[in-house]
Amino acid sequence: MIKTAVVGAAGRMGRMLVREVAAAEQLELVGAVEASGAPSIGQDAGTLAGLGHLGVAISDDLARVVAAAEVVIEFTAPEVTARAAALCAEHATALVSGTTALGDAEHAALEQAATKVAVVWAPNMSVGVNVLLRLVAEATRLLGSGYDIEIVEAHHRQKKDAPSGTARRLAEVIVEQTAEVGDLDQRARHGREGLCARGADEIGIHAVRGGDIVGEHTVLFATEGERVELGHRASSRQTFTRGGVRAAAWVTEQPPGLYDMQHVLGLAG
Ligand code: NAD
Repeated sequence: MIKTAVVGAAGRMGRMLVREVAAAEQLELVGAVEASGAPSIGQDAGTLAGLGHLGVAISDDLARVVAAAEVVIEFTAPEVTARAAALCAEHATALVSGTTALGDAEHAALEQAATKVAVVWAPNMSVGVNVLLRLVAEATRLLGSGYDIEIVEAHHRQKKDAPSGTARRLAEVIVEQTAEVGDLDQRARHGREGLCARGADEIGIHAVRGGDIVGEHTVLFATEGERVELGHRASSRQTFTRGGVRAAAWVTEQPPGLYDMQHVLGLAG
C-alpha cells in the first residue's frame, strides 16, 4: 500500500480525494492537511468526507505529514503548491498537484522539486479532457489556417481563477501547433467589449461563471460556411479525483521529473 496524504483535505476536491484514496486498492491514507486555523483541524478526515471514522486527524503540520507519506495529493492554492513541492523534494516524497492559476514562481518550484522527486502537475486530471487536448491539437493541425479559434469555458460560481487552467492548456496546445503566428500572450483575447474586430490569429478565451457547473470546455474552429466544435462536459468532480488517485499510484514508480496527465494516461508523445 502506498502511504498517501491529501493536502487541502476539507476542500471541495480534498473531501472527494479522501473518499477516493480510502477506496483505492493501492493507496492508504496516512495524512490529511488543512490551513492553520481552519475549523477542520483535529477532525477526522474520513468523518469530514462523509465516510465515517478513518483514524486520520486533519493536521496543519504540512512538513510532518509530507515526511510520513510516499505521495502527496494537493489541490489547494498556488502558495501551498510551492511549499508542498519544496517539502516533497526535501523528504523524497512524490507529488501530485492539481492546483490551478500557478504563477511563474510556483511553476519554478515544481520544476525545482522535479529534479529530486517525481511530480505530476495537471490543470485537469480527467481522462476525457486529456483526450480532448490531443483531439484539439490534431484538429488545429488538420484544419490549418483560415479557421477562427475560440475557447469557451464554464464553471461554478465559487471558482476563484479565470480563465480555467484547462482553457489555458487548450490554448497552449493550439499555439504549439501554430507557433509560426505568435505566442499565447500575443494571441489570447480574453472576452470582448467595445470596438474589437477579430484579428486573424486571435484565440478568443471566454469564462462563464454560475451555479454549480462542474466544468465545461468547448473549442470552436469557425470559418466561412462551417464550424467544428470539440468539447468536454464534466458532470461530477469524481472525474478529476479519480485521475488524481490514478496519478498518485503511477507517480511513485517514476524517476524524478515533471509529468502531466498525458504521461500518466500514456497519451504523451
Ligand atoms: P476549495 O477552496 O474548496 O479547497 C481548497 C482547500 O485548500 C480549502 O479547504 C483550503 O482551506 C485549503 N488550504 C488553503 N491553504 C492551505 C494550506 N496552507 N494547507 C492546507 N490546505 C490549505 O477549492 P477546490 O474547488 O477544492 O479547488 C482546489 C484547487 O483545485 C483549485 O486550484 C482548483 O482550480 C483546482 N482543481 C483542479 C482540478 C484538476 O483536475 N486539476 C479539478 C478541479 C479543481
